[in-house]
Amino acid sequence: MDLTKEQINALISCCEKLGCSYSQQEPLEKHTTFRAGGPAELFVRVQNGETCAELLHLARQLKVPVHILGKGSNLLVSDQGVEGLVLHMESKQNEFQRKGNEIIAWAGENLSALCMYALEQKLSGLEFAYGIPGSVGGAVYMNAGAYGGEVKDCLKWVRYLDENLQEQLLPAEQLDLSYRHSMFCGTDCVILEACFELKEGNSEDIKAIMDDVMFKRRDKQPLEHPSGGSTFKRPEGAFAAALIDQCGLKGRRVGGACVSEKHAGFIVNDKQGSCQDILDLIEIVRAEVKEKTGYELETEVEFWGK
Ligand SMILES: Cc1cc2nc3c(=O)[nH]c(=O)nc-3n(C[C@H](O)[C@H](O)[C@H](O)COP(=O)(O)OP(=O)(O)OC[C@H]3O[C@@H](n4cnc5c(N)ncnc54)[C@H](O)[C@@H]3O)c2cc1C
Repeated sequence: MDLTKEQINALISCCEKLGCSYSQQEPLEKHTTFRAGGPAELFVRVQNGETCAELLHLARQLKVPVHILGKGSNLLVSDQGVEGLVLHMESKQNEFQRKGNEIIAWAGENLSALCMYALEQKLSGLEFAYGIPGSVGGAVYMNAGAYGGEVKDCLKWVRYLDENLQEQLLPAEQLDLSYRHSMFCGTDCVILEACFELKEGNSEDIKAIMDDVMFKRRDKQPLEHPSGGSTFKRPEGAFAAALIDQCGLKGRRVGGACVSEKHAGFIVNDKQGSCQDILDLIEIVRAEVKEKTGYELETEVEFWGK
């Protein structure tokens, strides 16, 4: 379904009234770390909850489908693009608020910038997240984690728009957080703000852990090429990268997409491949791993598309 002129005009007038920047047919390859994917019919940048709610109300009245975009670091977008409105939760340039040992962050902020802010404030607990290239909202959405830590460990509460576009605030214990999952997955809720409860620490110790985490990332991950991070979730009782490696799939290629030689858990788009190249390679990997090991790999990366 392409948007009608009436739908586009109504949404654009709303953006202009709210002072949001927008573009039509915005190439989403510019907004995903895979650097692949077609356009969004209408792409709007939002920096606060009120603007978000107003645009979502209108989109609902107009029956326009909506996608919420953070930093696009866990997304694979179809070469044909996505229908409707893409709301990009844009950074406010690191406006973090400290209250005691808590930090409150807008969903569009960069997760690594939040880690840097915690370091400046001598607050410990977020070191594990340093280098995850997502937004705060995206990290809460999928309970991002690394090196023995996860968002769940230090999240205190989340302010969000529920499926009726009402603002709600829930403590972390009620968010159903588990491995790469939260209650927000697969819903139309929009995460607006998150509060992290940290502990007082000392700068040298916090920085040493962050440096170590970054060293490990650079050492083990193919950060020099576009990717969506780990392509597959960790199956119970095994590691996706080890299974893929065991099947001899490192270096397997479809067009511009390749199973990384450096880390078999990453599919990299090292030769400007299309989304279809990446999807085809994902299917080859899943089929070979299933056939040779019996494990069914599930993608961690999310697919948007027509
Ligand atoms: C090189 C590399 C390394 C990575 N390493 C890790 C790692 O160590 N650990 C890890 O967990 N992940 C890792 N990732 C994956 C990714 O960075 C995380 O999943 C991150 O949390 C995604 O955030 P995002 O803002 O980019 O979300 P997006 O990719 O923009 O969106 C992903 C999903 O979250 C939803 N979403 C985003 N923001 C909101 C919001 N405000 N409200 C509601 N829904 C929202 C989107 O609609 C979509 O469904 C890595 C990725 C790359 C490219």
